[in-house]
Amino acid sequence: MNLPCDQCATSCCKKYTVFLSAFDIFRLWNGTNILLLELVSFLPASKASGGFSPFAFSLGGKGRFLLTLRRNHGICAWWSADNPGKHCTVHEFRPDDCRCYPFNLFHGQLKVAHQKICPTDWSLVTAFEKDFTSANQRKKTNFFQYQALLQTWHEEILPELAGKCLSLSDKKGRFLSFFLTQTAQLKEIYS
Ligand code: SF4
Ligand code: SF4
Repeated sequence: MNLPCDQCATSCCKKYTVFLSAFDIFRLWNGTNILLLELVSFLPASKASGGFSPFAFSLGGKGRFLLTLRRNHGICAWWSADNPGKHCTVHEFRPDDCRCYPFNLFHGQLKVAHQKICPTDWSLVTAFEKDFTSANQRKKTNFFQYQALLQTWHEEILPELAGKCLSLSDKKGRFLSFFLTQTAQLKEIYS
């Protein structure tokens, strides 16, 4: 049975910003040949909802950031109109957010997220409940672990960089390298 998403003309990929954890970065980078700094954007946390604040981080200057999947011209940079039925060009390695949408876990139960654009009546599509439940559980675990790694970044790595004369671009590179190394060691990545 195919997911309704395969034939979807609305596509949440064109609408929503995708927030990333360290595990998403590793999976995408490891599975594609895309350069790290091309995969992601550093979104000022002030532009996102407060619900994301546990995942905001400092690069040593003013303001905090969130990692998001790069967008081009207002849509996900990895969405392609050329491939009906397979619009996602990184499908196998897509982030947790993409694997879970449009569901959330609410007290352990799978619920359709509040949103306005998805044309599918998911109450009629029950065949994928197990997959969406396990994707949401993994996402939760990955983001908790990412939060712990962010703490290490702030408490151990960032102070070490403070005395060095690094550009913002250098700091972004150091940030991404740190998480790649850490997530590779944790080996909890799935595809
Ligand atoms: S989740 Fe909904 S809007 Fe997104 S691709 Fe699937 S059917 Fe379309
Ligand atoms: S990575 Fe793929 S599934 Fe996720 S928003 Fe981009 S095109 Fe859509």
